[in-house]
Amino acid sequence: MKEKLQKIKEEALAKIQSSDNLDKLNEIRVAYLGKKGELTSVLKGMKNVAPEERPKVGQMVNEARAIIETALEETKKALAAKAREEQLKREVIDVTLPAKKNNVGHRHPNTIALEEVERIFIGMGYEVVEGPEVEYDLYNFEKLNIPANHPAKDEQDTFYINNEIVLRTQTSPVQVRVMEQGKLPIRMIAPGRVFRSDEVDATHSPSFHQIEGLVIDKNITFADLKGTLAEFAKELFGEDTKVKFRPHHFPFTEPSAEVDVTCFKCGGTGCRFCKGSGWIEILGCGMVHPHVLEMSGIDPKEYSGFAFGVGLERIALLKYEIDDMRLLYENDTRFLKQF
Ligand SMILES: [Zn+2]
Repeated sequence: MKEKLQKIKEEALAKIQSSDNLDKLNEIRVAYLGKKGELTSVLKGMKNVAPEERPKVGQMVNEARAIIETALEETKKALAAKAREEQLKREVIDVTLPAKKNNVGHRHPNTIALEEVERIFIGMGYEVVEGPEVEYDLYNFEKLNIPANHPAKDEQDTFYINNEIVLRTQTSPVQVRVMEQGKLPIRMIAPGRVFRSDEVDATHSPSFHQIEGLVIDKNITFADLKGTLAEFAKELFGEDTKVKFRPHHFPFTEPSAEVDVTCFKCGGTGCRFCKGSGWIEILGCGMVHPHVLEMSGIDPKEYSGFAFGVGLERIALLKYEIDDMRLLYENDTRFLKQF
């Protein structure tokens, strides 16, 4: 019995020593220590051993088991360490390689221009309001005095979700939404993305940004509108900037005007930038049409107001002397980081 145990132990240790992976070690564990393993079979053969010898044999089996288990455990650790070392060798990091450059983003010229415009109007006591980009035809056209057959609807052809819902062509529907809430007076600007079914070129894009302005209060006159926009132009383009109002037509304002500012490059004498005229067109405006007020539940006999709309891209292009609108949408960081 003693010789048999000695033999089993030596065999097991030899196998353990020569095994080179964890699977093999596991097989050895099962073969020697498992339920049907060699050591277990020795214990099963105890009935043939004389009773007074049994404790001694039992102790020897336990000793053999302990030795084999220790050998298995140590070999397992050694194999794991070896595997890790090999992995580290494979994954050598070359610390002399140049580091990957981390590109930090940059504020877009549109964003810079918008923040500037917001700063100016917040300074004059305006609130910044946002509205949905997907808008009811009712708000985008009808309630702004543009009924179904109005020619202005052609000029502002857009993308229809269905007969009643469109991608808004202007930020003006936000005016209607605010007026309908009925909290007067109103002094707000509404910046945001608008859509037209325009082909892309240097001055057009199917998606661009507008900033809408609206003031409704008692005794608001065209003089308030002129004063406000003159102040805005000075803040944005410089103290010496002058404004000029040219009569125009918009369905939702009466009277309406387009506003030019003196060229901030030549000061109004005429240059290549302003195409020799000395003036640059920047926005459209007017007194809110009484019918528009009425449709939103405001009494035009008691209240009056003005509205204006300015293209955000137009301001960014002018301010940074960018000659192609497409540059604003390409998001090439080499272009963007100049601003
Ligand atoms: Zn000029």
